[in-house]
Amino acid sequence: MANKEPHIHCSFCGRDKQDTLVLIAGIQGHICDQCIQQAYRIVKEEQDSRKTQDVSTALTLLKPMEIKRHLDEYVIGQDQAKKVLSVAVYNHYKRIAQKPSTRKAEDVDVEKSNIILVGETGTGKTLLARSIAKLLNVPFCIADATVLTEAGYVGEDVESILVRLLQAADYDVNAAERGIVFIDEIDKIARKSDNPSITRDVSGEGVQQALLKMLEGNVVNVPPQGGRKHPEQKMIQVNTRNILFICGGAFDGIDRKIARRLQSQTIGYTAGQQNAEIDKENMLQYIVPQDLKSYGLIPELIGRLPVLAHLNPLDRQALRSILTEPKNALIKQYFRLFEMDNVKLSFDDGVFEHIVDKAMEYKLGARGLRSICEAIMIDAMFEIPSDNSIRRLNITLDYAQEKLSKAKMDNLRVA
Ligand code: ADP
Repeated sequence: MANKEPHIHCSFCGRDKQDTLVLIAGIQGHICDQCIQQAYRIVKEEQDSRKTQDVSTALTLLKPMEIKRHLDEYVIGQDQAKKVLSVAVYNHYKRIAQKPSTRKAEDVDVEKSNIILVGETGTGKTLLARSIAKLLNVPFCIADATVLTEAGYVGEDVESILVRLLQAADYDVNAAERGIVFIDEIDKIARKSDNPSITRDVSGEGVQQALLKMLEGNVVNVPPQGGRKHPEQKMIQVNTRNILFICGGAFDGIDRKIARRLQSQTIGYTAGQQNAEIDKENMLQYIVPQDLKSYGLIPELIGRLPVLAHLNPLDRQALRSILTEPKNALIKQYFRLFEMDNVKLSFDDGVFEHIVDKAMEYKLGARGLRSICEAIMIDAMFEIPSDNSIRRLNITLDYAQEKLSKAKMDNLRVA
């Protein structure tokens, strides 16, 4: 019997088994640790270049009008914000696609166009940012400005935002560096002295200062696991030059500042005429960067958020549309969930109107639609999966009203 062990070597580089750390056997041969590492590097480079191509391809395919059309599928109304956002995003990624090697000295520098969205809570700011990231297939994260503090205070350093982006990108730094960050509640870090609604006492201005460098485009040292910087923790360097920052805030009370500005502008100058045209129900549509400054954002920060757009409050009609029309509308999601249990779901006339009535009554806005629907559907979603005899479920107005009256809706009421 020939039991002499055959000579084993790496089928790629020919190294003998004893010269390798590990030699992994495949169907046709072996591969050594060094060849695996080299192969990994080649795959990684290929992946990275594909990702850059993906964004460039998305751009060659998607012009601002197409970006807006895509947003229309997910977000109801908010036309002005969609338009401004589509152009800003298009320009931003066009700027990234400009290859440094092909640039000439006399070329115009296209500046970064970070965005600030101002609108009541639950009007679609986060949804807009998320929909853009989904369209472009880039890493996306949401950060809350209220937890940020100046370095040295209790709270999170601004770098923690980038930790989240890295996590969203599976720690692929290249991908993260082309991602989108949504910073929510940016109004809560307004300078206190200028802003009567602020309640926190760590100076918002310090946080604004800390955000500046990141928004502008810099190499930031990020602790990979988040938390405070430990000297022994190895930092990941993230260049924020091509990261698109979209900030959002409700800026409660800014309408008064806008009104005051409009008034002082018109005094002594065609005053009566211009005032007559002002829509007092929606002052945000007249917002200009100067109003953000009077609210307490520092001019440097405003300067780094050059694209300003407002979102309109949602009326009954908008809430009704949000319920059923967007691509992943709430009601469509329930249809899908029941379909997966082979149950055909239907709603009587009047149920959707009732849901909208309740959302308006409780001042819950679009965010409340979900809690109201859940209150109506929870019992059915609990019971029906265990009952194989049920193949249809029709939600009548009586059923919806009964479920809602039992639910503790008062808990949902917005103060
Ligand atoms: P904001 O960031 O302005 O506080 P969000 O974007 O988080 O609000 O909206 C909360 C929820 O309400 C979203 O998940 C979405 O389902 C719904 N919503 C809000 N505004 C719209 C809109 N204009 N179109 C469609 N859905 C919306």
